Amino acid sequence: MRVISLMYHDIVEEEAFDGSGFSGADADLYKTTQRDFQEHLAALARARSDSIAIVLRLNEVTSDSFPVLLTFDDGGRGALLAADMLEAHGWRGHFLVATDFIGHSTFLKREEVRRLHERGHVVGSHSASHPLRMASLAPSRMREEWERSVSELAAIIGEPVRVASIPGGQYSRRVAEEAARAGIRYLFTSEPVARTWSVDGCLLFGRYTVQRWTSAPAVARLARGERLPRMSQYAIWNLKKGLKMLGGDAYLKIRQAVLEGRARSS
Ligand SMILES: [Zn+2]
Repeated sequence: MRVISLMYHDIVEEEAFDGSGFSGADADLYKTTQRDFQEHLAALARARSDSIAIVLRLNEVTSDSFPVLLTFDDGGRGALLAADMLEAHGWRGHFLVATDFIGHSTFLKREEVRRLHERGHVVGSHSASHPLRMASLAPSRMREEWERSVSELAAIIGEPVRVASIPGGQYSRRVAEEAARAGIRYLFTSEPVARTWSVDGCLLFGRYTVQRWTSAPAVARLARGERLPRMSQYAIWNLKKGLKMLGGDAYLKIRQAVLEGRARSS
């Protein structure tokens, strides 16, 4: 099965980047303003209205190619804005929550998490403490992150939690095995691929990243499954992986140079 999953983080009011989720310049790169998100949804409605789905009902999608899944990482308060705006289109999203942060000032409260679930959105785990290098943890720590988070969410929504996403984007087969052991059946990675794969009964999805500067036409092109934008995310992702292996310093320097170049060109 091929699926286009889009990875959003916080949806924020104009200029209120510190009002939802993790704070700092780095986190802000992954936040989308309400106005931009409105445009993204309108573009998606024009491009793929009949294909927006949730993992639990993938078999009901009428379109024969590339169902589109909308995911929101971290569990910041912007999820409430996102949910309202999705519902205006009749759509539902996947809200993946780092459970240790529930109740913190810029994150969802317990009753808000429960309400998202009651409104038909998928509530899933994004680990408990949000380790940035999940694949580097000892297996027992991976298991603890998944189990603690899943049981906390299950207590909140009153149902088993079957969906999750990997914090920090670092994937390994072991991360998926430990997720499967914690009862997770659908796991979103940050690999920019449309194919799905299985590990121990858990179905894995790649995701395409939406960043602060991602335009509505770019989102629509991704959602249509166009090859060029997908290949370019794939190339950049693998370049980053290579640089990270070379060493954190080299990676950070090049990343900074890329960001500065982008700021000048925008
Ligand atoms: Zn995250």
